[in-house]
Amino acid sequence: MIEKTPLENWIREKITGEPTVFNRQILERYQLNRIRYTVAYAKRNSRYYQQKLSHIEPEDIKTLDDIRLMPWTTEEDLRSEGHRMICVTQDDISRIVTLQTSGTTGQPKRICFTQDDQELTTDFFHIGMSTFTNPGDQVLVLLPGASPGSIGDLLKKALSRMNAETLVYGVVDDTAQVENLLVNRRINVIVGIPQQLLALAKGEHAAFIRQKGTLHSALLSTDYVSSGVKRTIEENWGCRVFQHYGMTEMGLGGGVECHGFQGYHLREADLFVEIIDPLTGVSLGDGEWGEVVFTTLTRRGMPLIRYRTGDLSRLLTTPCTCGTILKTLDKIQCRLRSSVKLSNGSKLTMSDLEEVIFGIDHVTDFDARIHTTDEGERLVIGVGGKTAGADMYQQLYRAFDESHLAPSLESANLAISFERQKPAELDGKAIYKRRIIDLRRQPMRSGF
Ligand SMILES: [Zn+2]
Repeated sequence: MIEKTPLENWIREKITGEPTVFNRQILERYQLNRIRYTVAYAKRNSRYYQQKLSHIEPEDIKTLDDIRLMPWTTEEDLRSEGHRMICVTQDDISRIVTLQTSGTTGQPKRICFTQDDQELTTDFFHIGMSTFTNPGDQVLVLLPGASPGSIGDLLKKALSRMNAETLVYGVVDDTAQVENLLVNRRINVIVGIPQQLLALAKGEHAAFIRQKGTLHSALLSTDYVSSGVKRTIEENWGCRVFQHYGMTEMGLGGGVECHGFQGYHLREADLFVEIIDPLTGVSLGDGEWGEVVFTTLTRRGMPLIRYRTGDLSRLLTTPCTCGTILKTLDKIQCRLRSSVKLSNGSKLTMSDLEEVIFGIDHVTDFDARIHTTDEGERLVIGVGGKTAGADMYQQLYRAFDESHLAPSLESANLAISFERQKPAELDGKAIYKRRIIDLRRQPMRSGF
C-alpha cells in the first residue's frame, strides 16, 4: 500500500480546520468561495483587475465552471501591467522576484509577495518535502538560497519545521566540491535542477555514493524532465526521484509527486488549476491535453486570476494509487512559447519565423520546436505544404541564411533543420500552432 500524499491532510486541515470528513465536494466548495473572494479582493485593491473585471461581480460566479466568465491573464499582461496588479502597499511587500525571460516587450516580469504569501509557500514546502524526508535527515539544496525569501531560504525554513538539517549550497558551480559533500557527509535528500543532478549522478563518485546508501531521495525542481534523466539519477545513485512542479508566479510551489509517481498532486487550497485549449481558449475536461492555467486562492500581494502558464499537460482522470482525493497534474509535456531566448541572449519570435518561412512558395503551415542536443540548441521546423520536397528545403535553408535573423542565429550557435510537418497535434487536436515548443533542458522558473 502506497503512503497517501501528506498534502491531502494538510489541505483538509487548512480548509475544515479539523480532521473531519473530506471529499472533493468540500474542497470544491471552498475553492469556489475563495475564487469569489479573490475576485472581490483583486477588484477592490488593484487598478488592473478593477478595470479588467469590471463586467464581473463575485456573485456571478455560481459554479467553478463560471470561472470561464473571466478573461485570462497572460505573461505579457504580467510584464506590462504587473505594477497595476499589486493589491498591497509597498510596506507590505516583503519580496519582489524579477524574471528576465523571453518575451516580446523586453520588460522583465516582477512578482511581489507579502510575508504571509511567503509563509504559505514555506508551509507547502514543509508538507511537500515530508513526502520523502524524515525527521533528522540531512538535506542538500542545490538551488539559490543566499537572499531571504529565495527558494533555498524558504526550503531551509520549511525543513527546520520537521527537524531536518539543511545545507543550502546554491546552484552547482563546482562539481567536485558538491561530490565531496555527498561522499563525506551523510546526505539523505538532495534537491536541485535536473541537469545538475544528472551531471553529479554521472560523476566518478556515483558508485561510491550508491554503495554508501545514505542518499534515499532526490527532488527535481522543474517543469520538464525526460524519463531518461529520472532513470539515470535513480539507477546511478540508487535513490528515488520525485518531481516538483512550480513557478514563481505560483508562489514558487505548485505541486509535488507522491510515492505513486503518477504526476503532481496540487496545492489545491492555494491554487485552482484548469486546462484550456491553447489555441481557442476553450476549457477542457479532465484527461484532455492543453495549457495549464491557474488562479491563486490565498495570495495577498499580487493575486493572479486565470494565469496562463504556457505549460502543456492534463489533469488525470484515474485516481492516484495513493488514494488521495486531490487532483493529479500529469508531467508537463512541453512549454508553448510565442518567443524563446537563445543561448546568446537574443530572442527568436514566432513572427520572426513566419516572416522567413512564409516567404517560400507553397509553404502554408509550419511548427517549430527547440531542444537541447549534445552540440547545443537545435531548432526543428516542421513544414507543411503541397510540394514539400528537396527543393523546398533548399529554399528554406537559403531564406534563413539570407534573412536578418542569420547573424543572431549564428552567434547563438543554433542549428536549424527542417522536416516534413508531422500533424501538429496531441490527442487529435492541433494545439502547437503559432507557438514555439520549448523542449530545452534548462533551470526552470521556480524561484530564481
Ligand atoms: Zn498520489
